[in-house]
Amino acid sequence: MTTSLLDIFLTRARQLPDGPVLDFERRRFTAGQLANDVTAFARALRAQGLAPGDRVALFLENSPAFVISYLGTWYAGGVVVLVNTQYRQVELGHILADSGARACVTGAAGAAELTPLKAQLPELEWLVTIEPSPQAVPWPTLDFDALLSRGAASTASLSLPSGEQLAVLGYTSGTTGRSKGAMMLHRNLLANVRAVTEAWRWTREDRLLLALPLFHTHGLMVGLHGTLYSGGTVDLRRRFDAAEVLAALSQDTSLTMFFGVPTMYGRLLEESRRTGVRPRALRLLVSGSAPLSAQLFQEVAETFGQRILERYGMTETIMNTTNPYEGERRPGTVGMPYPGQEARVVDVRTRQPLPPGETGEIEVRGPHVFAGYWRRPDATSESFDAEGWFRTGDLGERDADGYFRITGRARELIISGGFNVYPREVEEVLALHPAVAEVAVLGLPDPDFGEQVVAVVVPAAGQNAEPSALVEFCKERLASFKKPRRVVFVDALPRNALGKVQKHVLRERLLGSGP
Ligand code: ATP
Ligand code: MG
Repeated sequence: MTTSLLDIFLTRARQLPDGPVLDFERRRFTAGQLANDVTAFARALRAQGLAPGDRVALFLENSPAFVISYLGTWYAGGVVVLVNTQYRQVELGHILADSGARACVTGAAGAAELTPLKAQLPELEWLVTIEPSPQAVPWPTLDFDALLSRGAASTASLSLPSGEQLAVLGYTSGTTGRSKGAMMLHRNLLANVRAVTEAWRWTREDRLLLALPLFHTHGLMVGLHGTLYSGGTVDLRRRFDAAEVLAALSQDTSLTMFFGVPTMYGRLLEESRRTGVRPRALRLLVSGSAPLSAQLFQEVAETFGQRILERYGMTETIMNTTNPYEGERRPGTVGMPYPGQEARVVDVRTRQPLPPGETGEIEVRGPHVFAGYWRRPDATSESFDAEGWFRTGDLGERDADGYFRITGRARELIISGGFNVYPREVEEVLALHPAVAEVAVLGLPDPDFGEQVVAVVVPAAGQNAEPSALVEFCKERLASFKKPRRVVFVDALPRNALGKVQKHVLRERLLGSGP
């Protein structure tokens, strides 16, 4: 029985070793070459003393080395820890210490960033670097290519992971608090990639342009996993560059799919308007990770002649819902559960399922859902109910015909004077005001109302807004209990490495307890 994506990939590589799988900066890997490197990496890790269940952190940009280390760690029985390449000492220290990583694969800049953390990371024993480090590094360091050569000469036996084995610790983005390690089992990854490839009709004829980071669910567990599972190919980019991506989308007739976050689509549109370059019609454009506005959806439809398929996922569960491949792709919605999965909306207080059209917390259940948070039994038990439903922490509603909409984060729901205020609704109104460049709405303690609505505004350049004018603007458009009681002006909103606004940081600042 097939128990892992690794098994599927290695089996195909044996059957069709010359089939292309990965292109990166003028290098092409066939399935056979990639499988050989993966095997060599795994053997070298075993020779190095890596034991099953040991954690190996990848602190690496998109590259073939990422893919080889990722699959190779699995083949050695290890667990991959994903680390955002924009992370610096505070986040790095947290993730590497929390995961207890024994080894880390990184570049020269990554090794330099890790160096001051030596005393905080007693479990980290050695590094693998993909390029020489100009400075001394306080760990034994192995060169990636040398490691592959050593592994290629070894005949150490390897075994495929079982479905119940831990494959990845995926750290959440840290939008609502400190990031937590989501424990993904091999069977979770396999169930997910099966559902995604089925829903999107992904086949070996497909070729994906992938400029999303591999350290995050969207690029890795959707983009790369789907390619490996379906037997298609991927044109992997080191990073997203609007001009390069647009050029490829307009010229490369072999591409069939592109996946992006909403900001990427916004930049592609700008670039297309600036240069007059239009992409060719691909089979599938996908958006996710953050809300795609109905306006951006329409603009892409008009300019690129294509209706983006929006889907909803998260680190803990990979993909939850998707707009249909065939059938209506409805802007402002994230569609319906994937095959074999369930999703529902429950009342945040009673936890009872709600009828269509009512807002509550989205819960999901199915074989894609992770096994819990690493070393956080408290957070794990808070997140699951007795019937196995996982509380996503996202607020949303279901339309009468089954389409889900996301309306914000459950933690950010403001209850003022007994009324529910959804920050996103107030933010959307304030964003329409010409003096507002960016806005975040949150609830702060209030002696009379329990919580009060506070708007934090980045003013538009050259505009002078009065707080009272903004409050009045809301009053004309929303119920009075939703209007901000306080408006605070700031130069910039705190955002995490994925560009999501960190309201907990704002809250601490406003309460005077934070940085
Ligand atoms: P943390 O859990 O640490 O606070 P995070 O939730 O931002 O951080 P991720 O797992 O990277 O970390 O992001 C998942 C979240 O992204 C979802 O819970 C949801 O809020 C948001 N998201 C994903 N896809 C969409 C989408 N299509 N529309 C709106 N929001 C989305
Ligand atoms: Mg989250």
